[in-house]
Amino acid sequence: MPAYRAPVKDTAFVLQSVVGLERYANLPGFAEATPDVVAAILEAGGKFCEDVLFPLNLSGDIEGGTRHADGSVPTPAGVKSAYDQFCEGGWGTLMADTAWGGQGLPYVVGTAFQEYLQSANMAFAMYPGLSEGAQAAIEVVGSEEQKAKWLPPMVAGRWTGTMNLTEPHCGTDLGLIRTRAAKNADGSYAITGTKIFISAGEHDLADNIVHLVLAKTEGAPDTVKGISLFIVPKLMVDDEGRFGARNAVSCGSIEHKMGIHANATCVMNYDGATGYMLGEEFKGLKAMFIMMNAARLGVGLQGLAQGEIAYQNAVAYAKDRRQGRSLTGVKDAEAKADTILVHPDVRRMLLDGRAFNEGARALILWGALQVDLAKKAATAEERELADDLSSLLTPVIKGYCTDKGLEVAVTSQQVFGGHGYVREWGMEQFVRDARIAQIYEGTNGIQALDLVGRKLAMNGGRGLRAWLAMVREALAGSDDAALGFLKAPLEKALGDLEASTMWLMSNGMGNPDNAAAGATAYMHMMGIVALGHMWLVMAKASREALDAGASDAGFYEAKLITARYYAERFLPDTASLRARLEAGSATMMAMPADAF
Ligand SMILES: Cc1cc2nc3c(=O)[nH]c(=O)nc-3n(C[C@H](O)[C@H](O)[C@H](O)COP(=O)(O)OP(=O)(O)OC[C@H]3O[C@@H](n4cnc5c(N)ncnc54)[C@H](O)[C@@H]3O)c2cc1C
Repeated sequence: MPAYRAPVKDTAFVLQSVVGLERYANLPGFAEATPDVVAAILEAGGKFCEDVLFPLNLSGDIEGGTRHADGSVPTPAGVKSAYDQFCEGGWGTLMADTAWGGQGLPYVVGTAFQEYLQSANMAFAMYPGLSEGAQAAIEVVGSEEQKAKWLPPMVAGRWTGTMNLTEPHCGTDLGLIRTRAAKNADGSYAITGTKIFISAGEHDLADNIVHLVLAKTEGAPDTVKGISLFIVPKLMVDDEGRFGARNAVSCGSIEHKMGIHANATCVMNYDGATGYMLGEEFKGLKAMFIMMNAARLGVGLQGLAQGEIAYQNAVAYAKDRRQGRSLTGVKDAEAKADTILVHPDVRRMLLDGRAFNEGARALILWGALQVDLAKKAATAEERELADDLSSLLTPVIKGYCTDKGLEVAVTSQQVFGGHGYVREWGMEQFVRDARIAQIYEGTNGIQALDLVGRKLAMNGGRGLRAWLAMVREALAGSDDAALGFLKAPLEKALGDLEASTMWLMSNGMGNPDNAAAGATAYMHMMGIVALGHMWLVMAKASREALDAGASDAGFYEAKLITARYYAERFLPDTASLRARLEAGSATMMAMPADAF
């Protein structure tokens, strides 16, 4: 049976050494996030995930979802009770605004807890996760009446939210959507159309479901410029918050899919359902992107979360499983074989996972801090910088961390040999669950295009310049003698990234196929450098802790070994990625369509 332990000590280390939480104590929400409060959240939150949610992960995967003839979709055994405990414990309100019943804590603190949630039970985590995205959109573009009506019950978890973009014939190209919104006499709209792949579209966890739906109004341009966003509740709600009739929205079927079985993926039919416009007409996609941006960071977190739980189980297995002897001599003469942990190739697999997970945790929490600072930093300049950094790194966090997260899940599964392929060890579930994160919230190919096509040049390249300067500053501020093992390869990797940026500017503008052909390589390169930056910060903090005589020296020594592993085994990859990028698009575009 698989196991899970929330990596509380590691999270606390990142919050202190990378995020520097206490530096922001003067900002709204941060003042309440005292070290004691944060420690209590991590400890108690971790325990809740370990004890309540993790035990349902495998059973929920096996039971999956079913749609009954009346359109209802019950969640697997135990999930409703766990959800009630989740709400009662206030775990869904950590980051929500106090105006709507939330605790108003920093996004970075909530994100730290959410890693545990996503590791322990990703399918469960998606119910509150999507709801938080919907709340974000209502909060930013909703009218005061809409916020007052919909947000308090959603924040409390009594109602949940969904996002409805995808239709059978379009997922990436949303300009093609066919769902229509016809204006009613009372100012509401009648929504008609079919949405597919709607996560948490129907379930039995909450009293109501608030669907956010993209549709085109009558006479709207039949392009992305004609899309508006609508609130469409499952149950109608009057101005006093009382439930009325069932709205004309229903779950037509659920998908039978590769992973996240305990989260229903629904076909949603809108048959003239009553909806209310959210934000301005034709600005629906913009509003939806508000929730997509936060969601993309959350999806990057899913990559890390599945990588982490897979790694933890692989370590436990490698310490227990005995096969063969160490190449450098018997390590355990009492036993007929050594544990597989003695084999360099097994260590390679484990350290690949560890170096990614710890680096990704730092990058994602640093990214979450930028989301906080973009809203709450004291000066306009600081807010602008944080917004630039967050915009630039969001596609990298989503794309790179989910590509690598799956890779870590697969590599960790490999540590189990054939036992990783069978259900009882849980490893194949982590692989199956991790896979979706590369696909939804914009496929990773689209993240790469967003990075190369939009984010690099955004505001005249201001965000990229600021981030590169930040990495260079960290390099300049690190001691050669103590950290040279990491500095030199990071400088080289940064050089590859900068040269690739120049190459894109020279070769991608005239021929956009060149930029698109190298986009994924570029995104991975930036991910590798971004994690390298995080490793430099963590290595420096670890060195300082050791020099100061830290009592838990083993923790910091292991950090430095992992940092060295990252330097030796991850950073050199930028050279081959650069070569791929610079190969351009000519060869791949040369293949005639009918030769495929
Ligand atoms: C389990 C699950 C849950 C989901 N949850 C939700 C949800 O809650 N709400 C929701 O609205 N949707 C949801 N989705 C849908 C998901 O977001 C889409 O599947 C995804 O956006 C891709 O769209 P598509 O499947 O239509 O693929 P397509 O858009 O058809 O893309 C097919 C392939 O072509 C590539 N491609 C497409 N256009 C381009 C381009 N211009 N340049 C380069 N490459 C391109 C893509 O990267 C992809 O590899 C979910 C899907 C799944 C499977």
